[in-house]
Amino acid sequence: MFSQEPIDTYCPECNSHSIFRRQITGTISHNPDAWEGDGQFAIRLKCSRNTDHQLYFMFKVEGRTMQKIGQYPSLADLNTYDVRQYAAVLCKDDFKEFNKAIGLAAHGVGVGSFVYLRRIFEHLVDAAYQIAKSDNGWDDEPYRNGRMAERIQLLEGHLPEFLVENRSIYKILSQGVHELTENECLAAFPIVKMGIELVLDEKLAAAAKQQKLEQAKQAIHSLVSKARD
Ligand SMILES: [Zn+2]
Repeated sequence: MFSQEPIDTYCPECNSHSIFRRQITGTISHNPDAWEGDGQFAIRLKCSRNTDHQLYFMFKVEGRTMQKIGQYPSLADLNTYDVRQYAAVLCKDDFKEFNKAIGLAAHGVGVGSFVYLRRIFEHLVDAAYQIAKSDNGWDDEPYRNGRMAERIQLLEGHLPEFLVENRSIYKILSQGVHELTENECLAAFPIVKMGIELVLDEKLAAAAKQQKLEQAKQAIHSLVSKARD
């Protein structure tokens, strides 16, 4: 309530991490009884880069019980910084669901979060399948009849090596939602999430490489045309 410690967190307006500070005006009572009583209070923290960037946290006090009752920006907005980079390589709906899955898992919702992750994982595997299908000698039959672990193996060369080597872990993706317990889903969550991130990391790296190639091509082109002049 009276802390003036700086807080290091994500600033949605800077779109990066920043240090937030709060300023308390007036005097702070050191008598613990003075802190008691019913009421509500808000804490406002300002970004050290720009004091217009602010975080609000609302609390309710009843007797000696204090409860957080709200905040702005949302918990999800503050927690999705690490995920944000993947917006470039996920479609809009998948990106939204990826965030939702992480938020749900953070609140202990196992099956719900798992269902979202599974869907994103399946989309990524399907995208690899769409490319693999045009390979010479591709046999569609075993893929279509295969379970997830078998499909991942058939897509070797189109999916990260780690996924292919550890494909047996992904057996759980073939199980029906009704067969899974909350705890099984929560235990599988980080593994499936990491699998998704591995695929997305490769996509990000490929996009960065492509961009650099384009830049190099342009630089060479302008150098050559200058030399001609
Ligand atoms: Zn800021």
